[in-house]
Amino acid sequence: MEHGGSSGARDARALDGHTGTAADRHDGTASGAASVAASGTAGEGAEARARAARRDEAVRAAVEQGLLGPDRPIVALLDVAGIRQAAAGLRTAFDAVAAPGTPVLHAFAVKATPLVPVLRLLHEEGIGAEVASPGELALARAAGVPASATVLDSPAKTPAELREALALGIAVNADNPQELDRIDALIRSAPSRSPLGIRVNPQIGGGAIEALSTATATSKFGVALRDEGAREWVLRAYEDRPWLTRLHAHTGSQGIPLSLMARGVAETYALAEEINRRAGRRQVDTIDIGGGLPVNFASDATEPTYGEYARLLKETVPGLFDGRYGLVTEFGRSLLAKQGTVVARVEYAKRAGGRPVAVTHAGVQVAARTVYAPESWPLRVAAYDAKGRPKEGPSVVQDVAGPACFAGDLLARAQPLPLLEQGDYAAALDTGAYYFAHHYAYNSLARPGVYGHAADETGAVRFAVVREPQTLAEIVAESGGAHARALTGLPLAGDD
Ligand SMILES: *Cc1c(COP(=O)(O)O)cnc(C)c1O
Repeated sequence: MEHGGSSGARDARALDGHTGTAADRHDGTASGAASVAASGTAGEGAEARARAARRDEAVRAAVEQGLLGPDRPIVALLDVAGIRQAAAGLRTAFDAVAAPGTPVLHAFAVKATPLVPVLRLLHEEGIGAEVASPGELALARAAGVPASATVLDSPAKTPAELREALALGIAVNADNPQELDRIDALIRSAPSRSPLGIRVNPQIGGGAIEALSTATATSKFGVALRDEGAREWVLRAYEDRPWLTRLHAHTGSQGIPLSLMARGVAETYALAEEINRRAGRRQVDTIDIGGGLPVNFASDATEPTYGEYARLLKETVPGLFDGRYGLVTEFGRSLLAKQGTVVARVEYAKRAGGRPVAVTHAGVQVAARTVYAPESWPLRVAAYDAKGRPKEGPSVVQDVAGPACFAGDLLARAQPLPLLEQGDYAAALDTGAYYFAHHYAYNSLARPGVYGHAADETGAVRFAVVREPQTLAEIVAESGGAHARALTGLPLAGDD
């Protein structure tokens, strides 16, 4: 089952090109998935082919088993084997470079895929949780992630959130001096087991996507290390507080070159060394290097890999791995993006200005970033026929539109694909992080159901509900349905 399905995917794959290093390739803007002629699968590797094959099987099974059809025109799928493999790949990559016995906590950035069964699966694969809001913490707890495997990082923690985290023993990284003041007061009133640190911004610069560049000079995150007096303030903060034992930085996300990420980690490590020199002991015992490994949206290949990043870090910052420091990582997108697919039925196929347009049920509600910032977030679309089989046929440049009532609601513009016809399915690939789990309620479009898939011993695809599709009753309830007369019931003062 070569991934024919990935008909569109196959077209885009050529972009990948295999020129230069993984680091170079991720320097630039996410390369567009559009308008590249079909080419082979050279260099993509067995893992990528197997993932594409599982996706094709799952789409067909979703149609056969009725998860997708005329009355259920959109579904989100998660590849359970893919999630397990990604988690194992992450653990193996850091184990391979860290001194034996180094404590390493991989805390999944919950915001990437805030779904309880996903957090549970990751937990069972040895991955913890990085949370940044009371909601995310509640999800991690519902999944059974223990406090010892949880890290709280939000830039806007309230006193109540801090108190709860400290009471539970969750690791907290203070974002700024005012937050540290609050923590001071809290631990004076009740001792805590929480490992505590400060988030710093090494201000090493941004990447291709401004909105995701966390280490620019004026980023809102952490203590801006190169600002006047800031480094000295951090050093003093540790000197005054022997209980500050961690140091945290998260220098970027999609669009940041690997070399820049490694520099951010190197600067953080250098600061930890300076703190410890001053203290004359290993006060900082754990360095949290954040997440941010970019994802290749242009083909099925996993690039860069965790192994590449871990080796680059070891080369750049060897001291980080010599056993003197415990490590925390906070990867999100790179763990889940390639494990998710949104599949939507083509309700109508039409033409406009000579261009074919497939009107589907997947648009801004499941792909807000792509719809609003298509240059930064191009997605590959794969074409399947009405039975969920990979669609064959010559590539035709077409638009794949969503159901929302505004003209820009396009999943893909001018993408070459086998011509999508009424009743076919369009699949938006690599949408397991920051897409279908980030529903946008435009037009009161329902949140699609999310299903995990895995093959049983006979090879048959089995689905498990991760999240039920949202019902109309839920939409009404969440839209003030219980308060229909609330506004007409207010006084009429001023009306006379
Ligand atoms: C968003 C975020 C992450 C995860 O980033 P990815 O790009 O999804 O890997 C990790 N740490 C912090 C502090 C974040 O804000």
